[in-house]
Amino acid sequence: MQTRDLSEHAVYRAGEGSEEVARELGLDPDDLVKLSSNENPHGPSPAAMTAISEAASEVHVYPKSAHSDLVAAIADQWEVAPAQVWLANGGDGALDYLSRALLDPGAAVLVPEPGFAYYGMSARYHHGQVRSYSLRTEDGFTQSADAVLDVYDGERIVYLTSPHNPTGTTVDLAAVERIAAETNEDTLVVVDEAYGEFAETPSAVRLVEGREGWDAREDIAVLRTFSKAYGLAGLRLGYAVVPEPWADAYTRVNTPFAASTVACRAGLAALDDREHVERTVESAVWAREYLDSELDARTHASEGNFVLAEVGDASAVASAAQRRGVIVRDCTSFGLPECIRISCGTRAETERAVSVLNEVLAG
Ligand code: PMP
Repeated sequence: MQTRDLSEHAVYRAGEGSEEVARELGLDPDDLVKLSSNENPHGPSPAAMTAISEAASEVHVYPKSAHSDLVAAIADQWEVAPAQVWLANGGDGALDYLSRALLDPGAAVLVPEPGFAYYGMSARYHHGQVRSYSLRTEDGFTQSADAVLDVYDGERIVYLTSPHNPTGTTVDLAAVERIAAETNEDTLVVVDEAYGEFAETPSAVRLVEGREGWDAREDIAVLRTFSKAYGLAGLRLGYAVVPEPWADAYTRVNTPFAASTVACRAGLAALDDREHVERTVESAVWAREYLDSELDARTHASEGNFVLAEVGDASAVASAAQRRGVIVRDCTSFGLPECIRISCGTRAETERAVSVLNEVLAG
């Protein structure tokens, strides 16, 4: 039997327990500024909240198993066939479906280092192996086709993250295409765009579909989520857009009801409220710039809703900030013990975080 390394799950508890922290500090939990999980500080669209309340009267019956309304709306948004949309319990759920569909026992995946932990966790839970490529350069982090191709050794899935968590870097579409073209035919390149709404870089869906001057490719998939720009992290709703040849594999790997009625209703309403997403992105861009210019630490240019900052002893800085009521992500678990990641908060939250962190950094 495959055993799980439970310590891996600790990364999912980073930033949890704010209420206990507040109690220990004698603070009102509402006074804590939690900028550790890249959530939307403005919450979901009001239309999504209404949809959630309205769906309450239906939760005694099972959802439509094909989740057809939401899947059709997502397919419409990307101009793909509904079968190419693999709806799941969050982006994490979609990663599990990809692992299940692609990984025979012992098959390997290639993941970025530093990078999002669940690529490797999901592969291991599906009896796969994990290898990594490095984003590190002399003066920071970049994502290049060379870094991937230099170490590629026939892995079944190659993960790219754009924007990348936690560095905020993106991969340009020419690099994605080159990686797909120069890897084996049966390697699927998965571009994780969990933070895609916040980026200038366009979505790799155009490579899957062959639009805007690109040839269509059958070896690229794209991951998206409602957890970030849509502010629905607690609902657990995400999906992969897969190329045509993989469309039918969904029915072999999905759980019978991949997303709840409540999640589907909220997702549908959220998709419709473009303005809420636009306001969220505007606010994140402001916070990114503010963090860049006002924090007394080296920051890395980010296209996500967070900024990576070099602060020396990240664990000490994060703890000291937490004692002052500001929770940021200590990136030691990403292999970056000198970095913290600060999510873009509201204006007030971001200003308070910067002021507290600057106080801590001044020692
Ligand atoms: N990809 C990346 C890069 C992430 O940072 C996250 C969440 N932190 C996810 C995927 C998955 O998010 P979710 O399961 O909430 O959709």
